[in-house]
Amino acid sequence: MLVKVLGSAAGGGFPQWNCACPNCRALRAGTFRGKARTQAQVAVSGDGVSWFLLGTSPDLRAQIEASPELHPREGLRQSPIAGAVLANADIDHVLGLLLLRELQPLRVYATDSIRRILTEDNSMFGMLQRVPAQVSWSSLAVRKTFRLETSTGQDSGLRCRALSLGTHYPAYVSPQRQSELTAGEASLGLIVESLSGQRLAYMPAVPQIDEALLREFESCDVLLFDGTFWSNDELIRIQGSGQSAQQMGHVPVSSAEGSLSKLRGLRRPRKIYVHINNTNPMLNEASPEYRQVREAGWEIAEDGCQFDL
Ligand SMILES: [Zn+2]
Repeated sequence: MLVKVLGSAAGGGFPQWNCACPNCRALRAGTFRGKARTQAQVAVSGDGVSWFLLGTSPDLRAQIEASPELHPREGLRQSPIAGAVLANADIDHVLGLLLLRELQPLRVYATDSIRRILTEDNSMFGMLQRVPAQVSWSSLAVRKTFRLETSTGQDSGLRCRALSLGTHYPAYVSPQRQSELTAGEASLGLIVESLSGQRLAYMPAVPQIDEALLREFESCDVLLFDGTFWSNDELIRIQGSGQSAQQMGHVPVSSAEGSLSKLRGLRRPRKIYVHINNTNPMLNEASPEYRQVREAGWEIAEDGCQFDL
């Protein structure tokens, strides 16, 4: 399985357009030891021909252009992008679907709850249903393994399974609609497996880590894990108000309850932080936080990084 991280930042990217936090300011001033990043986006392929997007980020257009393997290969209209798997309905995670609206056949996997939010409540997504067989929505059930197929139904060789991680829908979803949806379909982690049994876990938003999740991670070869915030009160400290990491559905990297400590015992997977917020001090390669993460055996994803498993 080929895995490519097209974007490694949390929502807003790095730098974020309206942010003057120490990281964003230093990056703009050219004094930052670290890299700019686009909003989280991962692509996987079983054969190097058909690619599946895990989420569809608002930066998708530029991310596709920066990735030769995702460029059209033959004819006038074509794309190696066969489909997408949606893990939640956050704008950071689904806006890119609207960038794929040029009548290119595509298969989109989502829970019924996420599909209803997008297609029944947000009329703009009707642009994906203008002609028959434009976007085929495939319903995914939590915990049940499904095949990733191209828009014409060809098996890609990849298998996927979704874990229920969070129960909060985005703020734009009306209370009326929320009351009709299944809470366990709100925010998912994805496990993608190749025919040879190699496994990738993509977990950009993890509210808590329990024993069952640890067992899942120990069965994987690569773990792309929620690196949104370094500390629980990071945004509150920098902005003077706002929500904690926990309230936003993200376990922080540091502290006794954080992911560095909780995932310390994992032996099998290569551990890589992804979905990193622009305020996170570990983005700064000259910082003690960066050193601490690297010394604990973790990597920090950069845009364009890829691996073959
Ligand atoms: Zn910032």
